Amino acid sequence: NEELLRLDHLSIDYKVKDGYLSAVNDVSCVVNKGEVFAIVGESGCGKSTVAHSVMNLLPDGNEEIKGKIIFKGEDLRRYGPKEMENIRGKEIGMIFQNPLDSLNPVYTVGGQVAEAILLDKVDKQEAWNRVINLFKDVKMPDAEERANSFPHELSGGMRQRVMIAMMLSRNPELLIADEPTTALDVTIEAQILDIMKELKEKFNTAIMLITHNFGLVAEIADRIGIMYAGEMVESGDVFEIFAAPTHPYTRLLMEALPRKTKAEGRLKTIEGSVPRITKKKPGCRFANRCPYALTNCYCEDPPVVHVSENHFCRCHLTGKEA
Ligand code: SF4
Ligand code: MG
Repeated sequence: NEELLRLDHLSIDYKVKDGYLSAVNDVSCVVNKGEVFAIVGESGCGKSTVAHSVMNLLPDGNEEIKGKIIFKGEDLRRYGPKEMENIRGKEIGMIFQNPLDSLNPVYTVGGQVAEAILLDKVDKQEAWNRVINLFKDVKMPDAEERANSFPHELSGGMRQRVMIAMMLSRNPELLIADEPTTALDVTIEAQILDIMKELKEKFNTAIMLITHNFGLVAEIADRIGIMYAGEMVESGDVFEIFAAPTHPYTRLLMEALPRKTKAEGRLKTIEGSVPRITKKKPGCRFANRCPYALTNCYCEDPPVVHVSENHFCRCHLTGKEA
């Protein structure tokens, strides 16, 4: 397993009116070459913030970042805007929930993908041929006709295919996908998922997948990190965690999934809500929702415990049960 991306004790605080918001706290994880690492959690848990920090897309100046973001051995936090420009797209691609935000409404989608390809200094005909091939790679129906369409003429699923084609045109080693199928219906979601699986196989693209959908995770992820209130509470091999969730929060999430349709289950909200942490005080952030909370959970930070190879859990109880 060759390491591609490593987050090393990453913390992100936002200045807000009443002090600061601890959006991400002490998150460490690794995405290896060619693997899918899924970050899962309820909305507001900080998973998107983690993803966006890698691309340097956080809102400007309002946040304080600590820790390292190591991509291929280099700390991206030390890169200036120009160096990041070279990384973005070419080495790290990104797809979002809503492709319309990233597409220019006044150009054809094929033209927009061609533009990305023309950065490689190929001639226009060659670029167009590549566009059509990429559209076929992402199973765009009537590839040639669609390449000449404008974004508003396409369905949500087709637009997401355009975004994936655009991302593929640069052949990045890492794709960050932030809720890529959340806005799509189930059939289209399954198709986009198949395309992502193919990418992984054919192009060996590593994917950091941000989602609240355990169905997606079960389908595509190799490893998984579960986030709660800005912290990664458990991470490890997807089968291991599905078979034997260790953190009380992960267990509750798993129990909330309908048993028979576990693999299709969307993450249901369990009782209570993700707290907004504006003052850092010691103690487990999950304590007020945790069925196992003990006195020390409220006043001492839980340790990150090594459960097995590459399986970590942030909890006072881990390893202490009979
Ligand atoms: Fe529950 Fe305590 Fe573990 Fe937090 S540290 S998850 S409160 S048992
Ligand atoms: Mg989000």
